[in-house]
Amino acid sequence: MNDRTALVTGANKGIGHHIARLLVAEGFTVHVGSRDPQLGKKAAEEIGGHLLVLDVTDPDGIARAAAQVDRLDVLVNNAGIAPSLATPADTDLDEMRRTFETNVFGVVAVTNAFLPALRRSPHPRIVNVSSGTASLTWSTNPNPQFAPGNGGAAAYRSSKAALNALTVLYAQTLDGFKVNALAPGLRATDLTARAAAGGDPAEAAAGAVHLALLPDDGPTGGFFSWDGTAVPW
Ligand code: NAP
Repeated sequence: MNDRTALVTGANKGIGHHIARLLVAEGFTVHVGSRDPQLGKKAAEEIGGHLLVLDVTDPDGIARAAAQVDRLDVLVNNAGIAPSLATPADTDLDEMRRTFETNVFGVVAVTNAFLPALRRSPHPRIVNVSSGTASLTWSTNPNPQFAPGNGGAAAYRSSKAALNALTVLYAQTLDGFKVNALAPGLRATDLTARAAAGGDPAEAAAGAVHLALLPDDGPTGGFFSWDGTAVPW
């Protein structure tokens, strides 16, 4: 198929921008989701994609965006925020609500709005950009591999754990779809500006594209690292 279409949310920068760029290189018509029209237009032009103004927390805007897309083969729910490193005891509830609004409710709202377009695809794929810091197995490891360990970034990590749960439930209930979650690894982007180090976001994007291009006998309802290895829930 050479008329495949994809939507990447939060594609004006960071990992999402790289995912969009790689999907264009794969021959997709790519809708570059961006809540800021100016930044999105520039980002779309840079890679030969098409701006789709989309704030994942704006129901009317989501409906307007979905009305512009007839058929969709790949949806990458990439938009995300990580406001603070606070532990649960120190987490501001408004911050937690904002985090879930984007990272969880936003994914459900966008996914459900674009389901009619995805159902018109012969091979629909959904990639939810999660985080290895959401792995409860890794989080409870006595030698945690992931910063911030010790119960930090509670709002962010619990939101991505909820996203992982939704990934499984969507996979179980969407016939013919492949729905998987990606752990991109620590990457140098604006989201992690406070971290001491981070790898190349393009490498993580390649992992997302791998899940976007899964064959019909590929996995669904899984949690995969950027390098394709399974991540424990
Ligand atoms: P980033 O550079 O900060 O990019 C985040 C993107 O999400 C931006 O385009 C941002 O748009 C967009 N966004 C935020 N809220 C939005 C909303 N309400 N509606 C639409 N777009 C919105 O961060 P990133 O590192 O590339 O993050 C991409 C994804 O990877 C996130 O889901 C993040 O949780 C996940 N992740 C990242 C890392 C890492 O190490 N970087 C690790 C694990 C998981 P604006 O420019 O308008 O803010």
